[in-house]
Amino acid sequence: MTTANLNLSRRAVLGGAAALPLVAAAGTPALAAGHGGGAAMPVARSFKLGEMTVTTLLDGSILRDGAKGIFGGNATDEQFAEVSAQNFISAEQAQFYFTPTLVDTGSALVLFDTGLGRGGVVTALAAAGVTPDQIDVVVITHMHPDHIGGLMTDGAPTFPNARYVTGAQEYNFWSKMEAGNRVGDLVASNVTPLAEKTEFIEDGASVAPGVTAMAAFGHTPGHMVYHLESGDRRLVLTADLANHYVWSFAHPEWIVSFDSDKEAATASRRKVLGMLAADRVPMIGYHMPFPAAGFVETRGEGFRFVPVSYQLMG
Ligand SMILES: [Zn+2]
Repeated sequence: MTTANLNLSRRAVLGGAAALPLVAAAGTPALAAGHGGGAAMPVARSFKLGEMTVTTLLDGSILRDGAKGIFGGNATDEQFAEVSAQNFISAEQAQFYFTPTLVDTGSALVLFDTGLGRGGVVTALAAAGVTPDQIDVVVITHMHPDHIGGLMTDGAPTFPNARYVTGAQEYNFWSKMEAGNRVGDLVASNVTPLAEKTEFIEDGASVAPGVTAMAAFGHTPGHMVYHLESGDRRLVLTADLANHYVWSFAHPEWIVSFDSDKEAATASRRKVLGMLAADRVPMIGYHMPFPAAGFVETRGEGFRFVPVSYQLMG
C-alpha cells in the first residue's frame, strides 16, 4: 500500500481530532474520550514461533473514506456492499493499519519494514523493550513510503547498527525513477544512502537462519514476502500481498488501487493465500487489523482471514 492516496499530512495525523475523530494523537485508534473509552490500542504484541519471538509493532492507523475505490475497483456497488455487510464492516470506510514486525531469531533481531517515518515504530519497539540501536537486520519488503519512511530520522539512519536486506528487482525499479517521482525520491533519500550496507536478494534467498524470501510480485515490481520456520512451526510475513482483511481475501481478483500490476497482484494473492490455507500456516499482514496475525481458510471462490486468538502463545 502506498500513502499516495492517503493524503496524510503531519498536521492531520498529529493534531487531527477534528479531521480524524477516530484516530488518537499517537496515530493509534481509540474511541472518543469522555465516555470512559479513551484508551489507545496497545502498539506491540509478541507471538511465539518455535524458538523465535515474533512481535508486531503498530506504527500508526488511520480511517479512510472511499473504500470501494481503493479495494474494489472492478466490483459492482452491490457486490462490494454485500461482502462488507456479511463481514460486519462499513462499505464506505476502511481502517488502515501500518504494522512492521520484529523477529527475534534467537541470534539476531530482524525488523521487517519501518513504517511511515513519524516515529511510531520506535515507540512500538520501546513498548517491546527494544531500542533502535539493537536492531541487527532491517528487511524492506518493498519500497512504498509506508514501509521505507522510518529508515531515516532527521537525515540519519534510525537503526544505526543494522545491515539491510531488500529485493534486487524492487530496488532496481525504484532507483531508476526520474527525480520528481514521489516514491523514487524517497528511495533516493532513505534507501540509496544505505546501499553499501544492503544485501540485494532474489527469490529464495536466506535472510537469517529460518528466514527465507519468497517473490510475490504485483503490488510492486519486486514485492517479497518472508517465510519463517523454527522447529516444526511456520509463519509467513505477507507484507502487502493482500491489503484488506475482508475484501482482498474474499475476492483476490478485486482491483486494489495501490497494486502496480493488477493481474500479477491477483495471481500472487491466489498463490500465497492458497498455500497458507492448504498448509494451515499463520500469517502476519502489514495492513491487517492489529495485531495483524491470522490464519487463512478457503471460502467460496476466495478466502477468509481468521484473526489469531491464543494459538501463538507458546
Ligand atoms: Zn503498505
